[in-house]
Amino acid sequence: MPELPEVETVRRGLVPALEGRRILSVQQNRADLRFPFPAGFADRLTGRRVVRIDRRAKYLLIRLDGDLTLLSHLGMSGRYSIEAEQGTAQPGDFVHAMPANPRHDHVVLHVEGGVTVRYNDPRRFGFMDLFERDSDNPYLAGLGPEPNDNRFSGAYLSEVLAGRRTPIKSALLDQKIVAGLGNIYVCEALHRSGISPRRLASSIPGQRAERLAPVVRSVIDEAIAAGGSTLRDFAAADGALGYFQHRFRAYGREGEACVTEGCSGTIGRIVQSSRSTFFCPSCQR
Ligand SMILES: [Zn+2]
Repeated sequence: MPELPEVETVRRGLVPALEGRRILSVQQNRADLRFPFPAGFADRLTGRRVVRIDRRAKYLLIRLDGDLTLLSHLGMSGRYSIEAEQGTAQPGDFVHAMPANPRHDHVVLHVEGGVTVRYNDPRRFGFMDLFERDSDNPYLAGLGPEPNDNRFSGAYLSEVLAGRRTPIKSALLDQKIVAGLGNIYVCEALHRSGISPRRLASSIPGQRAERLAPVVRSVIDEAIAAGGSTLRDFAAADGALGYFQHRFRAYGREGEACVTEGCSGTIGRIVQSSRSTFFCPSCQR
């Protein structure tokens, strides 16, 4: 499942293909993905120019002229691919995407300059929405700060975790506390900061929160810099597979030796809130 760094990689891949260009036509091949498309979806997009592309948590926000935003969530298997007619692409702008089954191309945008952007999603857990103001959008309302937002700090974590009787793992997955953090990077951040995923959130405020906040930020920043990790069939918008995966220190490494310096522990796996947690019982306390 794409997490924040992968979605950011997709955003960066879409920018050169879409920003500043007008959408000439929209081919919508289904009435729904995970949820129905909004009424008049294709008509409302047609003719608009893409002003810029933002990201909030795991939502891509394609800003269009006339104050309309196209929100896109990739779900489990959603991906974008970009094609440009021969000779129309600027060098380095467009890269042909990994082959995907065209049966799962649910939305195809034909854009100025001979550019075609396809949204392909075999499992259809992704969804799209159209709205005018972020404050009115239910998906964006109530999201906590991004991990690399200045508001996200040890002091902030201390404040929001105080008195919480849930495991820290679950608290960090709560999008109201920090936006866009998913299972993989929560496991990684807890491992790097030496904090047990089972520890109650209420015991984190103070020194542990000061240790944890910058680690959460660096885990995400490194993954974004590495172009996003890749799991199963996920590909970045430019078709390039990420390469952060091999650098996971805890996630997916059950039974392997812990890589923390001076630790002779073995990575274990437990299930919390029906998600797998990978951690080292020796150095994570
Ligand atoms: Zn360890």
